[in-house]
Order: sequence, then structure tokens, then C-alpha cells
Amino acid sequence: MNTSDTHISSVKAFRVWDSRGRPTIEVEVNLRGGGFGRGITPAGASRGTHEAIELRDGGEHEGGLGVQRAIKQVNELIAPALIGKDASDQHAIDERMLALDGTPNKSRLGGNAMVATSMAVLFASANAHRQPLWSYLAQGKPVRMPLPEIQIFGGGAHADRRVDIQDFMVMPVGAQSFDEALVICADVYRAAGALMARRGSRMGVADEGGWWPDFRSNEEALDTLALAIHEAGHDDGTALISLDFAASEFGKGGRYRLGLESRDFSSDEWIAQVGAWISRYPIISIEDPVSEDDQQGMRRITELLGTKVQIIGDDFLVTSATRVDAARADGCCNAVLIKPNQAGTITETLAALERGKAAGWGTIVSARSGETEDVIISHLAVGWNAGQLKVGSFARSERMAKWNEALRIERANPQIQGFAGRAALPQAILK
Ligand code: PGA
Ligand code: ZN
Repeated sequence: MNTSDTHISSVKAFRVWDSRGRPTIEVEVNLRGGGFGRGITPAGASRGTHEAIELRDGGEHEGGLGVQRAIKQVNELIAPALIGKDASDQHAIDERMLALDGTPNKSRLGGNAMVATSMAVLFASANAHRQPLWSYLAQGKPVRMPLPEIQIFGGGAHADRRVDIQDFMVMPVGAQSFDEALVICADVYRAAGALMARRGSRMGVADEGGWWPDFRSNEEALDTLALAIHEAGHDDGTALISLDFAASEFGKGGRYRLGLESRDFSSDEWIAQVGAWISRYPIISIEDPVSEDDQQGMRRITELLGTKVQIIGDDFLVTSATRVDAARADGCCNAVLIKPNQAGTITETLAALERGKAAGWGTIVSARSGETEDVIISHLAVGWNAGQLKVGSFARSERMAKWNEALRIERANPQIQGFAGRAALPQAILK
């Protein structure tokens, strides 16, 4: 056997289970020379309308969430098309799947089937080249660690809509290393938990491991987060606040409604509210501050607040290079969230990230709310030299697996110094 033979010998799909106990698809790829890779598809709860389609079985079994159709697409359509192809040509592999799918939204093969295959091929090729994935992706170019952003309270679609804002996070901008960054985040997470316990809140965690948002208003959550940063001793600018509004979940057609407080806003009123919070709290980053259909609102908020805070498009950009280019031309957003399963292939994911970098934007590689033990995003973030990494909170092993993997990458590579993400952040708020 020629161990350097990177041609694909088998592609097989199976059902496994995600962190919400829902079925998902895992794909295993073997190469002729013995290389092996596995990819597992994550799942979102607050999904963008324009994401790659997730093929689910529907019907009565498994709450309609079964993935037998997606598995069948891999085993019967994708596998025969990829067997014999060279796994080290990721672009050709992904193009082959795209041609086979032939739809604008990956509804034939299923984005969930395609992305697991694409990731498994990537891992198999790195394995055949005897390199950790991050280093295989970096191709000898210097990289730095991504700055983490870590959820302290979960909300929105990840916590039964107890509060409207989805992610209340911290960004440890004062840290000197990834290791130190996690210590700072852990301090804030612990302080927030202690605060909630003292208040007699119902304790528990939301889908991504953030504390359960037992609050009377969105503002009370913001006050509590600011207080937790203070009590942790990191209110000297070391840890700043990052919010994912996921506003498509409470805004539509230029109207916004905070359900918790029964307050309604026009697009302009809502943007003024977000601006007021930014003046009042140490916020450095906001994600999807307006809904995915409010392009005018996104342009306006970028114009008003884009020099003060990072403005990330998630549902607004759905990891699409075309949408990143269009948003840049329209003056919308100054950063892009990168989720492989929104795009559906590794090649398209990288294209969106590169368009973001070309625009001088922040780039944030992100997990989904439904995750598994798969740690690919830690490798993608480092290997592609992305600015930031968003994985959810600081609890539950589907989250910790990714933070710990990033720690291992940093530990194995003392030449990696500092964070890739600082330069693209608004500098005025940094110490
Ligand atoms: P999702 O949430 O995975 O449920 O879409 C993550 C996010 O909005 O960033
Ligand atoms: Zn988001």
C-alpha cells in the first residue's frame, strides 16, 4: 500500500446524536493509502433563511428530525461520485458535490449531508499528510490564535425565549494568550453563576451552556453581565461585552418586539435602543443587531455605530462570499460570522472568510447551538488565521471540547504569539 495515496476509497454516512439529543449525520472517509477522516454536522436553532438546506425526514419518527434521507444521499449519490477522486483537492471535491446537487440551496443532496462529507474529506487529507488539521490548512503560513468570545447567559431560541437577546458574551480582549483568555472567561462565568445563585434565580443552563436567563428584562441581563465582569475583577477593560441579538427571531419587516418587556419598536427606534445600550455598557461587538430582511437598518446601524463596535452579520450573511461582497458594497456590517454548515462545503466557507478578510473585516469562526464532540472549528479558526472563535459557553463538553482543542493547538506551538483578531476590532475601546 502506498501510504501517500490520497485518493478516496470509501465514503459512508451514519446517524449520531447532537447536544440537544437530536439526530445528525456523520460521514467517514477512507483513502487508498490509509488516511481517514470524519465529519459531523452541527445544527442551528436560530437559522438564517438563506442557509444551505438541512435535509430532515419529516413525518412522525424522531420528531420529524430523522436524517435517513441525508444518509441515503451520501451513500447512494455522493459516495459513487467521490470514490477515486483525490482528497487533497478539496476544491474539486466540493465542486463535484455542488454539480451533483445542482440547486441554489443544496436541497437535493442536503447541506447537512454535503458539509459532513466535505469536512471528512478535509480531515482525511490532513491525516494522510500526517499533519494536524490546523497546520495542514495553514500551509506553512504564520498564524495566530483566534480571540475567543464566550457566552455567559443564553437567551432567545436557545432558552425558550426567556429573554429576547440570544447571546450575552464576554470577549477577553486584555488576555495575552488563549490560555489566559479562558481563565478570564471562566472567572466571569463563575462570578455570574454566583450572582444568580445569591439572587435566588432558578439555576440551570441554556442550549450552549450559558446560565439560564432568569431576568425580568433584557436590560437586567446586561446589568448582571456588567456586574459579573466587575465582581470577577475584569472591569478594567480586560473583558468586554459581546452580544448576539439574533434579531431575526424578534424582528420582521422593519418592526421589532421585545416579548419579555412587551415593547415594540420601529427599525429606527430599535437602532436607537441598541445605540443607548452601547453608550451605557462596555460593549465591543454586536451580531445580527437587526433582522436578516432589514437591509436598510443594517446600513444605518453600521453607519451610526460601525466605528464604535464590531457589527457581525450571521443570519444576515449566512457564510456566503456573494453576500459578504454585497454587504460591503452596501455599507452593511464590518465583520462576518463563519459557520461551515450555513455554507454547506469547506470551499464555500473559506471563500466567505476570505471575502471578509479582503474587506478588512473581523472574521469569527462559529459553532452552532446544536453541537457534538467534533472540534473542526477550532482547527479552521487557527489554520485559516481567523480573528475570533465563538463556541458557546464555558460548560458542557460539546463546548469545552473545542476550547480545549484550541488550548492544545496553542500549547503545541509556542511560536504562535498573540491574537489574530485584535487588529480588526474597533481600537478606541481597547486599552
Ligand atoms: P444557532 O445560533 O446555531 O442556533 O443558529 C448560533 C448563532 O446565532 O450564532
Ligand atoms: Zn448569531
